Amino acid sequence: MKTEVDHILTKNILEGKDLVYLLSTKVDREQHAIYRKANQIKKEHCGNNVYLRGLIEMSNICRKDCYYCGIRKSNEAVNRYTLSQEEIVEKALWAWRRNFGSIVIQSGERTDKPFIDAITAALVEICKQTDNSLGITLSCGEQDIDVYRRWREAGAHRYLLRIETSSPELFRKIHPDNEFHRFEDRLKALYNLKKAGFQTGTGVMIGLPGQTIEHLADDLLFMRNFDVDMIGMGPYIPHQDTPMGKGMESLIPSVERFELSLRMIALARIMMKEVNIAASTALQVLDPDGRIKAILAGANVFMPNMTPKMFADNYNLYDGKPAVKDDPMVIVKELEKRLQAFGEIIGYGKWGDSKHYFKRTHLTPWPPLLEERGSGGEVKRTRYEN
Ligand code: SAM
Repeated sequence: MKTEVDHILTKNILEGKDLVYLLSTKVDREQHAIYRKANQIKKEHCGNNVYLRGLIEMSNICRKDCYYCGIRKSNEAVNRYTLSQEEIVEKALWAWRRNFGSIVIQSGERTDKPFIDAITAALVEICKQTDNSLGITLSCGEQDIDVYRRWREAGAHRYLLRIETSSPELFRKIHPDNEFHRFEDRLKALYNLKKAGFQTGTGVMIGLPGQTIEHLADDLLFMRNFDVDMIGMGPYIPHQDTPMGKGMESLIPSVERFELSLRMIALARIMMKEVNIAASTALQVLDPDGRIKAILAGANVFMPNMTPKMFADNYNLYDGKPAVKDDPMVIVKELEKRLQAFGEIIGYGKWGDSKHYFKRTHLTPWPPLLEERGSGGEVKRTRYEN
């Protein structure tokens, strides 16, 4: 017998109320129907390749103080580091020689000139030494559009900047109220990334204290309205040395948080057929098979951690981050073996760019559309205005 979920999944366009329904189900059979549909769409529109992005956590120095993040500025327990250009390039070449196809360079939020110059110089050197044949994603936070343009010219072509939540109100609750943490600035930065020509990715944390199913449905609608090329999202996981890490009582249980994250990924795939979606590391903290399950629910990007071990332990955004094994290739080979049975293959040597990016013909208008709820729960489509 067909369920309500089966019925909703036949629709061409999912609306807010459909998303709330699909995100709310706790019935196993219904959840699996959502994952199956998402994976089928992925295979039809993106193929069966899982693309690799070797992750280099370049610096844990951060000028921000996000209430949830382990490397926030005020966490004095963190040993701060910045990789040298040689260390970054060496890791990039390591990935290139093993046919990873792409890397991601991520860091804390820094806007100082030495940092901007260091990223630029590393990009130029990586492109030179690989003859422009290694895909490069950056995830280095909010910057001026000139900096984004400079990095784009230096050879990076994808950028991940999570909006964290598309609700300005919830955003204000999880960040300090000062000029370093403005929702408007984050949104503008995301817009500027598109303007600078990047394949642009965003995402949210799932299961934040105070976050409702309606917030999450709105997040998905935001990503669709903003016309993003890539998505990276995962569960919120507390870090004990952060202000939010101490308020565990309002957190939904980890199994539920994990399943909710999987459903977010699956629904993102169903709604945005040709975007790239990452199977984020945080999923693995809540379930040892978390990233494989995400791939089988519509994700198509895997980011093995390549940060040198002595530094990676100081890039703990949340508690329980999986230890970095010495050889990321071992992790990739394990993944490859597990995925074989499901007809998924590793896209060695391929960039695996977002198909959506190449079909995108216009720039989302500024300010972008946000979905917000009225007092009766109805969706009001508004343009964001500070
Ligand atoms: N500074 C860059 C930025 O903000 O885009 C990149 C680094 S930042 C640490 C990368 C992402 O980590 C954030 O966008 C946030 O979503 C995620 N993150 C931080 N703390 C987290 C936590 N406690 N649980 C889950 N994800 C977290």
